[in-house]
Amino acid sequence: MTPEALARQLAPIAAPLVDWYRQNARVLPWRENTDPYRVWVSEIMLQQTRVTAVIPYYLRFLEALPTPAALAACPEDRLMKLWEGLGYYSRARNMQKAARVMVERYGGQLPSSFEDLKALPGVGEYTAGAVASIALGLPCPAVDGNVLRVVSRLAASREDIAAPQVKKDFSAALSAVIPRDCPGDFTQALMELGACVCLPGGDPLCGGCPLWDLCRARALGIQGRLPVKAPKKARRQEEHTVFVLEREGLLPLMKRPEKGLLRGLWQPPMAAGHLDGEEARAALSAMGFLAMDLRPLPPARHIFTHVQWELVGWQARVSGDGPRDFRWFTPRALLEEAAVPTAFAAYLGGKALKGPIPR
Ligand code: SF4
Repeated sequence: MTPEALARQLAPIAAPLVDWYRQNARVLPWRENTDPYRVWVSEIMLQQTRVTAVIPYYLRFLEALPTPAALAACPEDRLMKLWEGLGYYSRARNMQKAARVMVERYGGQLPSSFEDLKALPGVGEYTAGAVASIALGLPCPAVDGNVLRVVSRLAASREDIAAPQVKKDFSAALSAVIPRDCPGDFTQALMELGACVCLPGGDPLCGGCPLWDLCRARALGIQGRLPVKAPKKARRQEEHTVFVLEREGLLPLMKRPEKGLLRGLWQPPMAAGHLDGEEARAALSAMGFLAMDLRPLPPARHIFTHVQWELVGWQARVSGDGPRDFRWFTPRALLEEAAVPTAFAAYLGGKALKGPIPR
């Protein structure tokens, strides 16, 4: 279907969709007002992350860093601590780079055009469209997975929504349809419909949908089979052994390299592969530790976008100093100062990952 034909088909959805949104929108902290910085922070946090998980992070982040200038000047360790547990840490680093651009080029504000927003580090087509429409009132669509699903069903499109051209065509069609007097409400209404009614999987809640009579997939009874999406490539699997060590009340942690996965964050000592007890002792000895009371910990799994970690763990009291670049933390210092990724939550404990933020 051409973007023009799709636009003709979608044109009638705008009014009922926006009406429905105004009566049914969830109360969320980033909807209190449409300050561009607040909208931008929420859109970055919501990438790949559920609304309920984002809310406490969002409130804490805005309290600590209420402006682009504050974000631009934030020390990296503190920024990582604020982001700890939210995952995809490059988002936070890119936000800081973008905030520095705002300070240098835009007087400490977000830029005011779609193109300039899109040129910021970490801001793609979707985020630029969301901020432009919600915060700046510009008629720019924001097409994410939710919106692709909804449009695909409304049009009974059997095109593969993983194909970049399909996303471009949907975006072009929505550009023609988005109401000029309330683009932000339209953008949020589509997102809200995808999040709350036109759910993924085989079970959209069509009975409560404001677009029930405009939806071709529902009329054809094929809504549960749409959208069509080509399967992703399988993730690479990696096996690692994690060591939770303790010497006189202190825990040794090491900083991950400045390049690659989880860069610059803190982690417990690790070794490649799944080590049995004897191998674990030998690995610790190679690090300069003598292990006492070596005890196995339950296995754990952590899934990243392109790789999956299968972890086993060993706990031990140790003597010896270990490598020179290890730092020894009290449990309290670990809580307050070290940003430890959720990948290690099974071994360092959930509480340790949700500590207060140092001021
Ligand atoms: S009628 Fe059903 S399938 Fe169509 S948009 Fe609404 S919830 Fe989605």
